[in-house]
Amino acid sequence: MNILILGSGGREHALAWAVMQNPKCDKLIVAPGNAGIAQIAECAELDIMDGGLVATFAEENAIDFVIVGPEAPLAAGVADRLREAGFLVFGPSAAAARLEASKSFTKEICDAAGAPTAGYARFTQAGPAKDYIRAQGAPIVIKADGLAAGKGVIVAMDEATALEAIDDMLGGAFGDAGAEVVIEEFMEGEEASLFVLVDGEEVLSIGTAQDHKRVGEGDTGPNTGGMGAYSPAPVLSAEVEARAMEEIVKPTMAEMARRGVPFQGVLYVGLMIKDGAPRLVEYNVRFGDPECQVLMLRLGAQAMDLMHATAEGRLREARVNWAEDHAITVVMAANGYPGSYQKGSEIKGLDTLPEDSRNMVFHAGTAAREGAIVATGGRVLNVTARGDSLAEARDRAYAMVEAIDWPGGFYRRDIGWRAL
Ligand code: ATP
Repeated sequence: MNILILGSGGREHALAWAVMQNPKCDKLIVAPGNAGIAQIAECAELDIMDGGLVATFAEENAIDFVIVGPEAPLAAGVADRLREAGFLVFGPSAAAARLEASKSFTKEICDAAGAPTAGYARFTQAGPAKDYIRAQGAPIVIKADGLAAGKGVIVAMDEATALEAIDDMLGGAFGDAGAEVVIEEFMEGEEASLFVLVDGEEVLSIGTAQDHKRVGEGDTGPNTGGMGAYSPAPVLSAEVEARAMEEIVKPTMAEMARRGVPFQGVLYVGLMIKDGAPRLVEYNVRFGDPECQVLMLRLGAQAMDLMHATAEGRLREARVNWAEDHAITVVMAANGYPGSYQKGSEIKGLDTLPEDSRNMVFHAGTAAREGAIVATGGRVLNVTARGDSLAEARDRAYAMVEAIDWPGGFYRRDIGWRAL
């Protein structure tokens, strides 16, 4: 099978690695890819937001199966365009991708399906939004309706912060994404994510994870795209996972199908868990980054078969071969991230690492320059390891981190602390 993966981050490096483990893969192209991906697959320059261009490229390269990594091309309809051109694609239509692209749409689906989530109200005018906040009181959560690259959510612990967020968002700080705001009840509990393949009808859980959003140790400092993750998430026990599937995932996916917008791809189910009861925080319509890295290391070659079965609508016959293992990924980021940071610093020591099915360094923001690997992004490397216990996986990951010689970067030393 000839496979095309769209994207350029650590998530796509992990997807490419898993695909390359599978003997059914004859050729793999990743567009645009990065320096790490280029070590295991062919990379191609391509504007992945342009469905027409991607379809032509797939045609020219005799591609049999396309895996879409990030949300932006999905929300822009790239999967639809490829399917119209006759390609088999892993990833939802633009209409189904609204589960991530519009928070009010997801709320509506949850209401119709009776799925537990935070109480909420929607506003396009500041006056009524502020009256609602004053009536509800803090803590309270203010969200821009549309895609805002993870920055459109303010968890306000006091009323003044909430009122200010209304002025910012309805005042245009997020452009069209903030033309409507969703104001939500603050949910207490522990957060974890569940990853579920959906082929339009059938659902199949492929694992759980927890990430670390804050830049500093002990979960302090500003938010980031994620400084590390581990799988499985202990708080998502088999019982809690079963409840999340029965009470949230299955009814909402059935509601999508009933509306004529069946979801196909991977559903990232962000949950808040309190006293064993899960409530939905958010849906994303693609793998999390860096959660994908730990899931892929755990699933290995079967990940490709599972994604292929999803795209072909054959999930009913698919099974996951579980190992009783744990995986962890430590993100190495450029000094200064998530604020401004320098690009171009050299990373040494990568070629000394023992990369195999238990140890992998996935590249997120790197480039190859004159034989050297240099940092080009904020989050740069995802140092990932698997073990029989989380402690073993963590020790192995940090041993690799220490062997990497990169004065231009930093990392958190406490990834996995909650579960350890
Ligand atoms: P991302 O995709 O980057 O996680 P997002 O912009 O899609 O973020 P959400 O996931 O909806 O936004 O919210 C971001 C974070 O804010 C959540 O991970 C959670 O920690 C917190 N949060 C969101 N909604 C609530 C809520 N109702 N109660 C408590 N915390 C919340």
